[in-house]
This record gives sequence, structure tokens and C-alpha cells, in this order.
Amino acid sequence: MPLTEEALNYNRIQRAAGSKIFDRGLMYYHQKRVSVEVVEEDYASCLVRGSTSDYEVAIECEGNSLYFSCNCPYAEGGVICKHEVAAALALRDYLRTHIPPNWRNQLTRLVQGTQSSTRTTPQPYLLIFSLHSIYEYGNTSWKLTPYMLPIKAIPEEAQSLVNTLTKARLGELVLSIPDLSMAIKTPYNALNPSSCLNATHQVVSVANYFIDKSKYYSYAPAAGADLELLSGLDVTLFSGSMAVPVQRVIEILPTRGVRVRAGDCLRN
Ligand SMILES: [Zn+2]
Repeated sequence: MPLTEEALNYNRIQRAAGSKIFDRGLMYYHQKRVSVEVVEEDYASCLVRGSTSDYEVAIECEGNSLYFSCNCPYAEGGVICKHEVAAALALRDYLRTHIPPNWRNQLTRLVQGTQSSTRTTPQPYLLIFSLHSIYEYGNTSWKLTPYMLPIKAIPEEAQSLVNTLTKARLGELVLSIPDLSMAIKTPYNALNPSSCLNATHQVVSVANYFIDKSKYYSYAPAAGADLELLSGLDVTLFSGSMAVPVQRVIEILPTRGVRVRAGDCLRN
């Protein structure tokens, strides 16, 4: 597992540190005492300004585990110290705004992969996204998942109209399908952009990136960064639940989060 924003999951760090140390680290983080020095695929080092001297924190990712080290006396006892917490939080911010090189390679590979797979002619489909909450470790977080809806699930008389409909009308059409939950499919492999009827190659590439990423993370990723990737693109998006992912049509407002058509606001 590479070192990513998701790997440095807030709850995960809090659990590892305990709430007392976590709160001290959080304060250091807010006081901007951390400078991120080195970031590699599975390793990063930061310098943390302590009360009497500076400390060097290293964070390493191996398999599903994160390893921290700090040269302060407290961390010598083998426990997580406030410098490590502060460094992890600052590194999360850093990774959120800087796409790590390995991700960039992965995206390039996915885009190339989907382009070269257009030789096969699989069935036409609609690409839809669902934003739903998941309850994990006593916390609710949001997950953004791509789904595939084969065109044959749509009533025959409406099939030829699909690419002429507005997003809202297409959303309503999808919601009107009887046994919708049975018809939608969770893709496990890269989708072919040429057979997609309602999304651009770019949107299909982002979906393929989510599909690929979900293979690496078994825990709940935060949907915030994923939503940002989709904002400004023409996507068919729904809200729902884990069990029934497609329930209502929603849209992404680039600067204000997600708006449910009824007017409520979901925030990650
Ligand atoms: Zn320390």
C-alpha cells in the first residue's frame, strides 16, 4: 500500500495515538510546527518544531501497516508521540494537494489501458456514480462508487434517447427502472469508454481510477478528494446507501459540496 491521504486516515491515527496524545499532536499541527521534508512512494520524513528542540519524524508504509519514528525521548518508549501525530496530519494535507508520483503513473496507465482496450466491443452501458455513507469504527464517512448499468436494463423505447437526455432526466429514467438494484453492476475491471453512452472518456478514466483504487483499500476512504476529481465533469450521480446505492439524483457543486435535489447538504 502506498503512502496516501487515505492511508493516513484520521481515525486510524487517533486510535493508534490515544486521544490525549492525539489532541496534543493536533495542536502542534494547527500551530503549523511541521515541515514536510521528503515524500516518496511509501516513505516520508518531516521536521517538527518542539518546545525545546526540533524533532525528525519518519513515516513508513508497509503492507497495511504504518510505521512511525521520532527522535524525541517520549517516542523512545515505542509509543506514538505528539510529533508523529502532527507530522501525519500535515502529511495528509500535503498528499491531498500533491498527487504522489505513483498515483500519477497509475492514472496514466489507466488512461492508456482504457484506450487500448477499445478493440473489444462489449455491451453499451451507462456509467453512474453513487455517494453513500458507510458506518465504520463508530463513525460515518462517505464513499463514492462507480456502477455500470447495462443498456438492456433500460426500457427499449427509451434506449435510443439516452444520450439526448439532460442529467436530471437521465437520473429520473434510471430511478424509474423496476428492479434497479438487480440491474446495476459493480465493475471490478476497467470500463471501456467507447461503450459508455452517458460519460466522456475522461469521466470513464476517473471511474477506472476509483475501481483500481478500491482494490487497494479495504477500509473506508474519504469521498472528499474523489468528489473533487469529478467536480466540473458531466457525471450522473446519485445518493443512496450501501444496500441501495441509487436512490436520489444529486449534483456536485464545485465549491460548496454536494447538493441533494431536495435541498439538503451533504458534506464529507
Ligand atoms: Zn516525538
